[in-house]
Amino acid sequence: MVVQIDQSICMKCGRCIKACPEAALDLTSFGVLCNPKLCNNCKKCIEICPVNAIKLVE
Ligand code: SF4
Ligand code: SF4
Repeated sequence: MVVQIDQSICMKCGRCIKACPEAALDLTSFGVLCNPKLCNNCKKCIEICPVNAIKLVE
């Protein structure tokens, strides 16, 4: 499973980046991206996103 961020919905508020215990999320010039090598699939970013832009996908 990998974290996927819908860039058309994301408003770049940074809440997911602050909430991630593994520092797997980063705001880049392509939007917020997840480093799958750091992510432990805890879903904290998904729970905190106010616009439901984040999903765990196969
Ligand atoms: S919490 Fe949601 S809206 Fe905010 S930066 Fe993260 S993905 Fe984007
Ligand atoms: S699922 Fe957890 S570890 Fe992975 S990016 Fe989201 S908050 Fe970080």
